[in-house]
Amino acid sequence: MAEIIRVNDDTWRFEDDGVRFFLFCGTEKAALIDTGMKVPDAKKLATELTDLPIMLINTHADPDHISGNAAFDAVYMSPDEEDNYRANGGTGNVIPVREGDVIELGGRPLHIVDIPGHTPGSIAIIDEKNRVLVSGDSVEDGNIFMFGERRDIDKYIESMRHLLKFTEQFDEIYAMHGSFPVKNDLIEKLIEGAMRIKAGKEEGTPVDVFGKSALFYKFPYAGFLCDIK
Ligand SMILES: [Zn+2]
Repeated sequence: MAEIIRVNDDTWRFEDDGVRFFLFCGTEKAALIDTGMKVPDAKKLATELTDLPIMLINTHADPDHISGNAAFDAVYMSPDEEDNYRANGGTGNVIPVREGDVIELGGRPLHIVDIPGHTPGSIAIIDEKNRVLVSGDSVEDGNIFMFGERRDIDKYIESMRHLLKFTEQFDEIYAMHGSFPVKNDLIEKLIEGAMRIKAGKEEGTPVDVFGKSALFYKFPYAGFLCDIK
């Protein structure tokens, strides 16, 4: 059972055993942003918090972010994420959103930024009204999964640099794992860490993650789990 915490008058966060997702309300509509790992009734829980019609947006479609998706007929996500979504059993129609698109909840525009790398269609969402960035798994101070299929550390670095162009539009970052919230300066630290890994300047520790071997790189500000070369 997810713990539900009110962030402000029109924002809730759901804490689902190491995974986080959000309910954002405007004046006309509400949006669930992801549906967690073990919360098939996420939509029902959200309807207890708001009377507004609820849409679903996914930052990306790894299995720990889509557990309540089946309750929705449609999900807003990057079209580049649909293969990952279907591979993880994702149902319903995908309504494609791309960088520059705005999802309007009523007095609360949500701006989409493409940040591929963690997954092919990872997106970040700028909540202009609250000056918040929702970062999915790409900016967080836990362990960022960059091993296995569909991950791309070069694209990740490029995307984090791209994200720096938007930092004047938000004061804090809501991530789906790790601390809540995190600060904007984490983005630059993650770029530095990922660059050092890519350049072979860091020694990774071999670890087993869900039966697969990976290399773990621990920095003071976050960790990365990467493929063994
Ligand atoms: Zn995740």
